[in-house]
Amino acid sequence: MPTPQDVLEHTFGYSHFRGEQQAIIDAVCRGDDALVIMPTGGGKSLCYQIPALIRKGVGIVISPLIALMQDQVSALEEQGVQAAFLNSTLSFGAAIEIEAALAAGKLDLLYIAPERLLQQRTLDLLQQSKLALFAIDEAHCVSQWGHDFRKDYLGLSVLAELFPDIPRIALTATADFRNQQEIIARLSLENGKHFFCGFDRPNIQYRIQQKNKPKQQLLHFLKHEQFGNSGIVYCLSRKKVEDIAAWLNDQGYSALPFHAGMSAAEKKRNQDIFLREDNTIIVATIAFGMGIDKPDVRFVAHMDMPKSIEAYYQETGRAGRDGAPAVALMFYGIEDVVKLKQMTQNSEASAEFIRIEQQRLNALLGLCELTSCRRQVLLRYFDNDLPQPCGNCDNCLDPPKTWDATVAAQMALSCVFRTGQRFGAGHIIDVLRGADTEKIRQWRHNDISTYAIGADISVQQWRTVMRQLIAGGYLQVDSDGYGVLSLTETSRPLLRGEASLYCREDVARAAPAKRRVIDEIDESDRPLWQALRALRKQIADEHSVPPYVIFHDATLKEMLVVKPTSKVQMLSISGVGDKKFEKYGHAFLDIFLDYAYV
Ligand code: ADP
Ligand code: ZN
Repeated sequence: MPTPQDVLEHTFGYSHFRGEQQAIIDAVCRGDDALVIMPTGGGKSLCYQIPALIRKGVGIVISPLIALMQDQVSALEEQGVQAAFLNSTLSFGAAIEIEAALAAGKLDLLYIAPERLLQQRTLDLLQQSKLALFAIDEAHCVSQWGHDFRKDYLGLSVLAELFPDIPRIALTATADFRNQQEIIARLSLENGKHFFCGFDRPNIQYRIQQKNKPKQQLLHFLKHEQFGNSGIVYCLSRKKVEDIAAWLNDQGYSALPFHAGMSAAEKKRNQDIFLREDNTIIVATIAFGMGIDKPDVRFVAHMDMPKSIEAYYQETGRAGRDGAPAVALMFYGIEDVVKLKQMTQNSEASAEFIRIEQQRLNALLGLCELTSCRRQVLLRYFDNDLPQPCGNCDNCLDPPKTWDATVAAQMALSCVFRTGQRFGAGHIIDVLRGADTEKIRQWRHNDISTYAIGADISVQQWRTVMRQLIAGGYLQVDSDGYGVLSLTETSRPLLRGEASLYCREDVARAAPAKRRVIDEIDESDRPLWQALRALRKQIADEHSVPPYVIFHDATLKEMLVVKPTSKVQMLSISGVGDKKFEKYGHAFLDIFLDYAYV
């Protein structure tokens, strides 16, 4: 009988288990039940795939994401695993064939949608089959308190009743304490082993930049760091989605829009292209993303601020599911802050709800203005502690300079007060800088004591100060649509000099010129990289699968570093298993052999 390590190496082509994988796999192989909470990209699939291959019988994988089953099964087939799926997308004939394969004991893994599993016919069939395990993927769907509740998941309590001797492993990336208790109760995992692997996504590099010609900032990022990569660009409005998508196309990128105002057919078309091609940028509102599980999204860019840290974490979490380096880049500005504040204030919801929404927004603003490790603050927000700064966020890689903005803040607050708490940030900055505008003359603001007292501070710096004041609750934005600012209780200590304010000094640093990028492809390797990707795409098309099913980006990048010229070297690459080598290892080797002799 093969060991987990053998299967890891030969079938999946990996050399080491990650994190808790080994312990989880050992437990399930022994026949224990398990609850696994592991972040996206952490490697949950192997936790049930390997035990299913080692234990006798077929592993049943229950997942609500039927759109993904075809690709998951194709990926396993490429690795030489006997896999199939049963869901409503199959024709009657195809389903009968798979049921026959199941009955004949020919399958290693069978993916089933929950509603299909619960049909009496399927349950009968399973009772007559030899089963290795049940894996309940996206297990948080059993939780009525969770955000993804699926009624069919409640029915899964039959598994413990009908199949008491078959181990159950429940997996999810998102479950707070209450959700976990519900999963344990519903799926009868009280006696199982519990594995909690945190929420961190170490391969995602978090960066947040002040808006300063955001289109150019995006272009610079794409050109210098994301050459030919897939990514998602989020915008707040449909109009902006259309605009940015068209503009990116003009700049020579293949970008597609996605928002709720498009027809279902158009959306599906764009989504399919995004999933199948390896160089498409999707420009979208937050309507995009649910159930999207493309593993090789290399970046998520936010052209506007999301509305909370929860939303930010979920949206950025769509990057780097394959575990390879990915970037989450957000641009934010004072307009966003004002707009979002107004959106929450204007909503019809209860005062309590609005207050909570405001707190959420403030937490996100705090993250934006932060000068220390972003990941530590993000994780702490979800009650996870990261003892050391991460080394993989903008603030860690390139610590920002700060300046003591207390006096400037006092000037701004007093200017807001002296102008009667009736104006927005733009006018306040004009007054502080001593501008000569129509509005200033009209209101005689050139006569007040704060006129021109901040002339030596740049507009950019003033914007930072104003943003910080709003973020910190020193100024509040009224809901009238004009962004009128007024003082709050919190402003007092700052005005009296009992509190101080430090601001980021990131004015001239908008372009990430000296940013270290972990996996940037050397200029000289680009032709080779293109050749590898072209070959991957060609094979993927021949097999009718998305490119990542052939090899993940991480595997191609490792090839680029190793430049293998023999079978042994090729098999040492992470992600190259025996079957894949047999099928197309030589074609990739040929690229390197050609390259070695020119
Ligand atoms: P999850 O389901 O937790 O989001 P996956 O199971 O899809 O994550 O795994 C994410 C990626 O990491 C996949 O590309 C997978 O092949 C890879 N992976 C998983 N375990 C390992 C490992 N031990 N070594 C190398 N790569 C791994
Ligand atoms: Zn950090």
